[in-house]
Amino acid sequence: MPEAAGWQAELEQLKAVSARIGGDPLLTQGAGGNTSLKVGGTLWIKASGTWLAHALERDIMVPVEMAPLIAAVEAIDPAAEQAHQFTIAALNSSGLRPSIETTVHALMPQRVVLHVHCVDTIAQAVRDDCVQQVGPRLAGLNWACVPYARPGLPLALAISEHRGQRPDVLILGNHGLVVAADTVAGAEALLEDVKARLRVAPRSAPALDAARLAQLADGTNYRLPSADAAHAAATDPVSLDLAAKGSLYPDHVIFLGTGSVIARDGEDVAAVVARLGTSPVSILFPGTGILMRRDATPGADAMARCLADVLARVPDNAPVRVLTPQEHLQLTDWDAEKYRQDLARKAAAKKIA
Ligand SMILES: [Zn+2]
Repeated sequence: MPEAAGWQAELEQLKAVSARIGGDPLLTQGAGGNTSLKVGGTLWIKASGTWLAHALERDIMVPVEMAPLIAAVEAIDPAAEQAHQFTIAALNSSGLRPSIETTVHALMPQRVVLHVHCVDTIAQAVRDDCVQQVGPRLAGLNWACVPYARPGLPLALAISEHRGQRPDVLILGNHGLVVAADTVAGAEALLEDVKARLRVAPRSAPALDAARLAQLADGTNYRLPSADAAHAAATDPVSLDLAAKGSLYPDHVIFLGTGSVIARDGEDVAAVVARLGTSPVSILFPGTGILMRRDATPGADAMARCLADVLARVPDNAPVRVLTPQEHLQLTDWDAEKYRQDLARKAAAKKIA
């Protein structure tokens, strides 16, 4: 069966690329990002809630029948958000559900699609002048900018509008990057190329005040973040001002909540919690660093670091667009996301146990 061996080898190649992408916090964070391969009418796509970083250790690719899924998008049928209805059960050895973003992949005609939350891309994609910013850098590529739409059917419909142009690169407003090619190697090379073209030198941030932060965490339900890089969101004044504007992309809302909680002058953890009437997942202490609630999931830690990495790449005078209250509501009151968060909580509980 030389034909079967061919695509299976390609799927293995894709898993290797996925693991490399997943291992780079500047490209993907936690369960964010997803990759896919089309084999005839079947789309092999990363499972919802799984991490690209684990692509070589566990079975994270789910087979989906593409034709009915695309038909659902074209009919603006909410079934397009239920991609698990179209999984091919006989081939789905893990029994997992396909990614929330499956339609993004199905709508791209190229065989291999890589979707990442590249921090260099996000730093441009959160700007009102994104097209003017990225245009000169992407010259010569077939690219398109897709204004922010909630992942799922709204994003699928927004991408559909560009299908005639058959772009190889999509910049997703307030979200991330999609690259597509007909081979795994071609897609990885294109990703490297776009990443390099969109690269922004991060501002350097003052160091965290470790002693003060330990004092603030002492006796509370809060701990240090898993990555030291996360503190820059609080120690760099420009980043802190940007964080105060609100949420910049969906996974921030999903894993850290709406916007960023910033301690006021003289506030400790108890004072912040009392002011809000709830314990936020993370608290930014200006000039000091950040603390994470003790039960924060690894995905939340990954997003705390992502925030610092994105903010460090946005200049203080940039015209930034934050998510609106309605866009927040669309994300938090959404069954597909509840499923993904549930998986994250279960995985974290298993780790603790
Ligand atoms: Zn995404």
